[in-house]
Amino acid sequence: VIPLDEARAFVLAACRPLRARPVRVDDALGCVVAEPVVAAEPVPPFRNTSRDGYALRSVDTAGATAAAPAQLRVVGTVMAGTAHDDDLKPGQSVRIMTGAPVPDGADAVVQLEDVETEDGGRTLVVPHPVRAGTAVRPTGGDVAVGDVVATTGTVLSPGHLGVLVNQGMTEVTVFPRPRVGVLSTGDEITSAPEPLLPGQIRDSNRHTLLALVRREGWEPVDLGVVGDDEVALVEVLTRAGTACDAVVTSGGVSVGDLDMVKVVLARCSAGTMRWMQVAIQPAKPFAFGTLSGTGTPVFGLPGNPVSAMVSFELFVRPAVRRLTGHQRVFRPTVPALADAEFSRRPDAKTHFVRALVRLDADGGWRVRPMAAQDSHQLWAMAESNALAILPDGDGARVGDRVGVLVLDPDRLVVDSETPFETLDDIGAPGWTSLERCPSPVGVAKLQVGR
Ligand code: AMP
Ligand code: MG
Repeated sequence: VIPLDEARAFVLAACRPLRARPVRVDDALGCVVAEPVVAAEPVPPFRNTSRDGYALRSVDTAGATAAAPAQLRVVGTVMAGTAHDDDLKPGQSVRIMTGAPVPDGADAVVQLEDVETEDGGRTLVVPHPVRAGTAVRPTGGDVAVGDVVATTGTVLSPGHLGVLVNQGMTEVTVFPRPRVGVLSTGDEITSAPEPLLPGQIRDSNRHTLLALVRREGWEPVDLGVVGDDEVALVEVLTRAGTACDAVVTSGGVSVGDLDMVKVVLARCSAGTMRWMQVAIQPAKPFAFGTLSGTGTPVFGLPGNPVSAMVSFELFVRPAVRRLTGHQRVFRPTVPALADAEFSRRPDAKTHFVRALVRLDADGGWRVRPMAAQDSHQLWAMAESNALAILPDGDGARVGDRVGVLVLDPDRLVVDSETPFETLDDIGAPGWTSLERCPSPVGVAKLQVGR
């Protein structure tokens, strides 16, 4: 039995970033930038206005009051997408719409709401001084030429894609999305929708693991199901080695008679495979090796559905993030206060407890365990949004600090966002309110606590 850190170090040492290549900007969301992007174009590309109004020379409005307003001649109109060719002379103004270039000579724009016109729009009446620079967006005020808009290691957000497009770019050099193959193994596993034969169970792992792959933004490759059959496993792993950048299998890495994955992986990985008993619960058995020939990393996850998902989180996610050039591969651990007891006994293992974490109205993290904690109880995993990390020992009491991995921030419960007008009519804020919360967190059937 080895510590989690040691197992992870072994896995991470074998995973290097994929070769960087240019991809279409529109395909690059979530990808990691592989070389710095330096701005060659200023943004905005020209001085323009942020208001609908009149461009003017601020000196012309000095000392203006409602009683003695500045009176300016309106010499033209400039819409977004057009330009006013002449310099603005003293005493002149130009009607201008948001986004249009501010004419040379003008140094401010007064908004429509603040002024009046006379003579059928030919005279502008400004009842107060307008400060230089008002409603004028300078050239390069967002991005100046020479700015490094994305450094190596930048994880591209939707906003970044726009920033790159503003540079006239159609492609950006990133670490590509890895193709991640997912294989289910086991003689009892079926993917057919028909009624189960005696002893059969349905293949849930392939679907949860493919979904986890997709959620990370990687390219899922469905490798199907194979039985506990040496020949078939060798064949599919060999094929997967060339088609995938990483392979994730489930089942067959425990100590049972037919746990063939570890046997086959040992054969296919030229002695690089390590079959491990990791000091964690769930997901104790784990195998990892790189295929001979291609060097493709193969993650042999345990078959129990919760174990497979936890093993994905603890091993596959950080390692494949390394393939994708991420500099931060581990999820941050959030410090939360236990809202209920986390009971466990010393067993020399770190427990990863399926849990619900929430942000209370004061912004504090609170966590409590799901009731169902066996490694086959996938439903509780599905309903949870976090794993609470319980180091070896006697667990945690109410109010104790517990480290939490927030697996699904979209399912985070935030008390201050409660959809109810007041919490008074449903009792104390917090867990009780969750049971009736119609939000997408889907807590109607939640089993929490003991
Ligand atoms: P194993 O790791 O092969 O010993 O499997 C451990 C447990 O997980 C057994 O109860 C298997 O039936 C179950 N299991 C294995 N593979 C899957 C799968 N693809 N989907 C659902 N359960 C599975
Ligand atoms: Mg099996």
